[in-house]
Amino acid sequence: MSAAYYRIAAVIKRSSEDKFLLVRQASPPAPEEDHHRPYLDSHLWDLPSAPLNFLEEGDRVSDLIIQQGDSLHEKFDFGKFDIDSALGQVASQIGRVPAICGSWSVLKYVEEPDFGPDSPVKTLFILGHLLQEDEEFPDSCMWASKDSVANMHLDSRPSGGRIGLFTIIGLLHGSDGFRNWQLPHILLSQEYPLGIIVIPMRSRTQKPFYSTNLVIILTDGEASESEDPAIFKYGDALLVDPGCSTHCHYELEDLVMALPKKLIVFLTHHHYDHIDGLSVINKCNPDAILLAHENTLNRIGKGTWSHQLLVISGGEKINIGNNKLEAVFAPGHTDGHIALLHLNTNALIVGDHCVGAFGFSYGSAVLDITSGGNMKDYFQTTYKFLELSPSVLIPMHGRINLWPRQMLCRYLKHRRDREQEILKAIKNGAETLYDIVANVYANVDIKLWFAASSNVRLHVEHLAYQDVLPKDFSLLDFNRSYDSFIKKISTPSNEK
Ligand SMILES: [Zn+2]
Repeated sequence: MSAAYYRIAAVIKRSSEDKFLLVRQASPPAPEEDHHRPYLDSHLWDLPSAPLNFLEEGDRVSDLIIQQGDSLHEKFDFGKFDIDSALGQVASQIGRVPAICGSWSVLKYVEEPDFGPDSPVKTLFILGHLLQEDEEFPDSCMWASKDSVANMHLDSRPSGGRIGLFTIIGLLHGSDGFRNWQLPHILLSQEYPLGIIVIPMRSRTQKPFYSTNLVIILTDGEASESEDPAIFKYGDALLVDPGCSTHCHYELEDLVMALPKKLIVFLTHHHYDHIDGLSVINKCNPDAILLAHENTLNRIGKGTWSHQLLVISGGEKINIGNNKLEAVFAPGHTDGHIALLHLNTNALIVGDHCVGAFGFSYGSAVLDITSGGNMKDYFQTTYKFLELSPSVLIPMHGRINLWPRQMLCRYLKHRRDREQEILKAIKNGAETLYDIVANVYANVDIKLWFAASSNVRLHVEHLAYQDVLPKDFSLLDFNRSYDSFIKKISTPSNEK
C-alpha cells in the first residue's frame, strides 16, 4: 500500500452567526450519449476543500499559524505540507483571495478507513472566521447552519440538493445533537449518509479490492409505537453482507456482541466474500434473523445458519428505529441479487452491481454466469437504479460514489461499447467463443481470457435476445464452442 494522501477542508464562518459556507461541487463530465441526458445528479453542496501536497525541496514553509495544531501531535506535521497552495485553492472556490480569514484553527483530523485499492485519505478540517463579513459571494456558495444541513441531508428528494461527505464527517459527527457511534476499537468506519455506517473488512474478494464493506444501520432509540403490517420486519440493528475472512472474525465477533440482540442480517447475494462472516453471527446471536433471496439462500452451505431465516424478493420494507429501508430486487450480477434503499436519505446499497471508483477508473462488475448472471437483467437493474435517483451509491467494494447517475450511465456505456465490439467481431466472421474473445481481447493477457469469456457469453445471449445477430450466426454452434475454447486457452502453445 502506498502512502496515504491528504486533504484540507475549511469551515468558514462569519463571527456574527453560526453558519458556514458550502460550495456547489463540480460534477464529473456528463455522459456523452444523448439518451442519458435526463439522468443527471442533483447539486452536491460541501465544504470547500483541496488536496494537501507535501512541500518539495526548496519550497517555502508557510508562515500561517493554524492554532491548536499541537493537538495533533505526531499525526500531522504542518512543516511538511504546502498549506499556502491548498488554502489558495480553497479561497478560489469561494471567489476570494487567499487571506480570507483572520486566523485558522484545527477543528478535526479524520482518517478515512482503508476502502482500497487507493490509499486512504486523511483530512484536516480547519475553522476560520471571515475578515470582512458583509461581502457578497458567488451563486456557487451557500450559507448553511448545522440544522439546515441535517434537514436537507435527511430529507433527500430526487431533485433536491445533496450534502457532501466532508460536511457530514467534519461538522455533524460528534457535535451536539448528533450521535457518534461507539464501535469496538481498531475498526475504522465511515458514517455517510447519517445513519449508515460502512466498515471495509478484509475479505477473499477479487483484485484490485481486498475488502468487503460491512454496512451497519442502528436504531436511534426510537421504539415504534405500533407495528405496521406493511412493514416486513422491525429490528434494532441491521447488518449487510458480513463477508470478512477468518482473520477478521474476532473483530466481527466484538462488533456483533456490541450490537443490539434484535438484529437483522441482510445478504445482497451468496458469494463467499459476502457471507464468510455469517458463522460468527450465527454463533454470537441466536436472535438474529437472516434475510435473503431464495436463490441466495439455496446457494449458502447448509449448516452455516441455524436460526430464523426469511425469504425476500424485493419490495419488502424494513424499519430499524427511524431508519426506513426497502429491498430492491436487482438481478444481473447473480439471479438472487438484492439491493437495499435507505428511504430517509435515498442512499442505495448496491451489492456487487457496481464497485467503488478508484483513480480514473470506474471499475466494472463481473457477472456470475454460474449463478444466473444475466446481461439483460443487468441492464434493466441499472435502469431501475437510475430511476430511483439515489443520492449516493454504497458498493460492497471500494468507496461510496456521490455521482450515482453519472456512474450508472458509465456502466451502461461500457457494456454497450463492449457489446458493439462483440457484434462487430461476429459480423466480421467470428463464430466461436474463441474467435470472439481472441478478437475483442486481442490486447489483453491470455490469462484473463477465461474471466472475460463469461461476460462475452452473456453479451452474445443478450444480442440474441435483442435479435440483432446476423442470420447466418448459429447460437447453437456458438454455445457448443465453449469446450474447444477451454482446450485452446489451456494448451501450452498459447501460453507464451
Ligand atoms: Zn459478488
